[in-house]
Amino acid sequence: MSLLDIYETMDYGPAPESPAAVNAWLDEHERKFGMFIDNQWVSPEDVEYYPSYNPADGEKLADTAQAGQVEVDQAVHAARRAFESWSSTAGTVRARYLYALARNIQKHHRLLAVLESLDNGKPIRESRDIDVPLLARHFYYHAGWAQLMDRELSEYQAVGVIGQIIPWNFPLLMLAWKIAPAIAMGNTVVLKPASYTRLTALLFAEIVAEAGLPPGVVNVITGSSKAGSMIVTHPDVDKIAFTGSTEVGRILRRQTAGSGKKLSLELGGKSPFIVFDDADLDSAVEGVVDAIWFNQGQVCCAGSRLLVQENVAEQFISKLKARMQHMRVGDPLDKCIDMGAIVDQTQWDTVDGWVKTGTTEGGEVFQPDISLPEQGCFYKPTLITNLEPAAETVQEEIFGPVLVSLTFRKPGEAVALANNTRYGLAASIWSDNINLALDAASKVKAGSVWVNCTNLFDAASGFGGYRESGFGREGGVEGLFEYLRPAWQERPRPSFDPAEVSATWSTTTPARPTLPDNGRQSAKELPKVDRTPKMYIGGKQARPDGNYTRAVLGPKGELIGQIGDGNRKDIRNAVEAAHAAHTAKPGWAMRHAYNRSQILYFIGENLDARSVEFAQRLRVMTGQTLKSAQTEVELAVKRLFTYAAWADKFGGSVQETTLRGITVAINEPLGVLGIACPDEYPLLAFVSLMAPAIARGNTVVMVPSQVHPLSATDLYQVLDTSDVPGGVVNIVTGDRDHLTKTLIEHEDVDGVWYFGTAEGSYHTEYESAANMKRTWVNYGIAHDWENDETGAGHEFLHEATQVKNIWVPTGE
Ligand code: NAP
Repeated sequence: MSLLDIYETMDYGPAPESPAAVNAWLDEHERKFGMFIDNQWVSPEDVEYYPSYNPADGEKLADTAQAGQVEVDQAVHAARRAFESWSSTAGTVRARYLYALARNIQKHHRLLAVLESLDNGKPIRESRDIDVPLLARHFYYHAGWAQLMDRELSEYQAVGVIGQIIPWNFPLLMLAWKIAPAIAMGNTVVLKPASYTRLTALLFAEIVAEAGLPPGVVNVITGSSKAGSMIVTHPDVDKIAFTGSTEVGRILRRQTAGSGKKLSLELGGKSPFIVFDDADLDSAVEGVVDAIWFNQGQVCCAGSRLLVQENVAEQFISKLKARMQHMRVGDPLDKCIDMGAIVDQTQWDTVDGWVKTGTTEGGEVFQPDISLPEQGCFYKPTLITNLEPAAETVQEEIFGPVLVSLTFRKPGEAVALANNTRYGLAASIWSDNINLALDAASKVKAGSVWVNCTNLFDAASGFGGYRESGFGREGGVEGLFEYLRPAWQERPRPSFDPAEVSATWSTTTPARPTLPDNGRQSAKELPKVDRTPKMYIGGKQARPDGNYTRAVLGPKGELIGQIGDGNRKDIRNAVEAAHAAHTAKPGWAMRHAYNRSQILYFIGENLDARSVEFAQRLRVMTGQTLKSAQTEVELAVKRLFTYAAWADKFGGSVQETTLRGITVAINEPLGVLGIACPDEYPLLAFVSLMAPAIARGNTVVMVPSQVHPLSATDLYQVLDTSDVPGGVVNIVTGDRDHLTKTLIEHEDVDGVWYFGTAEGSYHTEYESAANMKRTWVNYGIAHDWENDETGAGHEFLHEATQVKNIWVPTGE
């Protein structure tokens, strides 16, 4: 037999990893686990215990407890007690603990990896070489931030007790993404792992104790979604950090609405994998394997929608099918397999159901002719071609090893198809033309974009979604802000009970526009010239659609003016104009930052030129003294200058990841923002909210103070003379809550800022769950607009942007 014959007939032999050490560990615990609270194992007798199975062979691994309200309360109290001292412990001391955690994770690397594979079904190659190394990396990286916090983040404080709920697809990695930044920044946590995969979180808890963390800093409770819900609604939890499905994310958004709890949501995805005709097709095929068959496709950012340029599609698909014939599916502990087991039979059934749906939708299903183990939850890598872009299998997250594929002709069509989804988690773009690839990367709406690579993660780079993939970032400096609050800010604790808030938004009935004795003139005087401000939409003055007018009353109840009473149609028109200004060529966001900054300076200059008139208007409207009105105008001008300055200084940064290449974090605008302004400081607050939004490239629909709107309607004359392109700023006057309701429901509005009542804040957050719009609300708490920190701090820039990370490897 020649060497070539041997080479061609050679098959892989098994290379199993031994589960002995894990079995010994499970036996040590008599295969029964309680919960980890206050650094103690709590094993209540009166709760139920549920089995955890190995999905590869159906064998029971251990039983874990189902937490109830008592255990959740116990864990939250422990975390609260620990918070007092942990948050005031020097960052350099916390860093030591995180460092110890990282070191101990490395000491137990193999045990963690094998247990992860047994519990979840993922290949040992992945848990050993990806999950556990990244787990350690996150603790090292955040040990660094703890070390630097006191100096580099001195304007911030810890948030408090954090409830963390994670899914089953990366049990250890998700735990690291949550716990490491939280405790580094001085918070304490109560973590609930997913029901399918609880065991590695418990092993990690042991490592916490071993590393000597003070009791109560990290608490792990096991339980079902009910226990998760108890954490979410617990009044003493200050923030919820959730990773899981968009469906559950929506529930959590509603449950926390109006409560003042911080919330970050890392949700589902249906990420595009774009192959241009000039790509290295063989590399791209390997990319697809990593994109969709890594972790059996149970990856939130899996490249599950293949988009191939039409002229190479046939060739590419045939290469892909050939590659699929060589994939190995089998025992997760075998070091030579490509794919392990699906986490559970229920998930297997869901995946299989989707493949059947693909067939009924007219798709052609391809599965390679490879063998699967006789028992266990194994599924073949699957490709479905010939589907329509609107097919359910193309639109919905399958969360399994199933790839759907479409074709495109031109780059513009590729981007349009890529963005034709409610999600926005990640994208992978393959082309040998760097200009083309980066152009597509800048246009795809997703939090992570990988150029000629896929599924790269590192603690130094934030990960998170756009649109219904959620909000908030995990990793990178951007991820720290999820666990920080400005030093001046208390946790808002609205005094009302959300359960008692009326189901509908409150609206005010406008005062009659004309009072009987107003404008009476002596016979000798000429009647006054009527001056009724209109709304401002698309750079033009617009009459209210409903032809209703509201009276604007002065401090003594006298009529001082009238404004249009805006309705849904006015908001829709304004959103359309804002959207057009955003997508125009070049849209507002695509203009040079220098140009945006010049326009902001120009607005400031023109406002300053009319400061006397604006001060008079404020005085008459609010009854404040002329001096304080002048101060308000001066501060508004100053704020415009501040954001003119920020317009070209918040673009992003280069992230220092482990990639040999470049990872850039870009602070992108959200898109179209709806902004409802408070009644206090009618000019200053309006400008303080509008300026950061437009400085960072958003287009806005402004709802001015409903009580004192006239300084805002005067301002459009300033905008008109300051080169602000039509549609960048739109002003709709009327009832704040009524107009905000339409903004929040509008599909083309990407974010809503609401500065009004506590109830309005509740409604804004609650209703935003429909399409997971990002919101920023004041919970009815008056803001100190005069102060530079509270009125123009980093929060404003942060709320006006979302971070996109673009990864570009280098090398030949
Ligand atoms: P899931 O059903 O949403 O569950 C996630 C976690 O939430 C689990 O711990 C679950 O507990 C708990 N939970 C369920 N209902 C709850 C409720 N009403 N209140 C509080 N907690 C509740 O998601 P999954 O099936 O575990 O994970 C898959 C999903 O996660 C996919 O959509 C995937 O895209 C997403 N994911 C996103 C990211 C990201 O970074 N964006 C990363 C990984 C995964 P039980 O397990 O006990 O039901």
